Amino acid sequence: MHAVRNLRLCTKDCLCLFVCPTGATDTETGQIDFAKCIDGCRLCVDACPSHAISLILETYPEPKVKESTIQKALNILLESKVSQEQLCSSVASNSEKATKALATALARSTRILAEDCARESAFMLPQSESVRQFLAELVDKPYGEDFPYDAVKRLLELL
Ligand code: SF4
Ligand code: SF4
Repeated sequence: MHAVRNLRLCTKDCLCLFVCPTGATDTETGQIDFAKCIDGCRLCVDACPSHAISLILETYPEPKVKESTIQKALNILLESKVSQEQLCSSVASNSEKATKALATALARSTRILAEDCARESAFMLPQSESVRQFLAELVDKPYGEDFPYDAVKRLLELL
């Protein structure tokens, strides 16, 4: 693992600089030198009063294989959740006060549960605006022929 610093949180008090045994935490550039960082020592993480440093993995595991049996089971589950949400929304739109509030809350919790199931099964794409902007920036930059531009464009289409 390696330490990384969130510059937005860093207050430049340099505590990490004092505790790091290898001098990896350069507060002038804001960068933590991966080459000098000792695997998982986390002294800087624990010392930082701003919680600006965290540890990240050096390599990440391969994504889960999306097996068709899991995909089918998930589709059935999500279809059922969509029906439940529609039912709750219908009850909410035809009810008053307490019943309306209860049905609205149930519709919302059903949606969240469905999204959690999809996310935990690795079938859900990150859908925030910042992810879209990040991908759009990747497409615009000249990274070279081996960069997977087609995959990034496809992701953008899907989001
Ligand atoms: S200890 Fe935390 S707040 Fe202080 S300089 Fe290091 S990263 Fe920034
Ligand atoms: S994890 Fe340890 S070696 Fe790496 S930057 Fe932090 S204090 Fe230095």
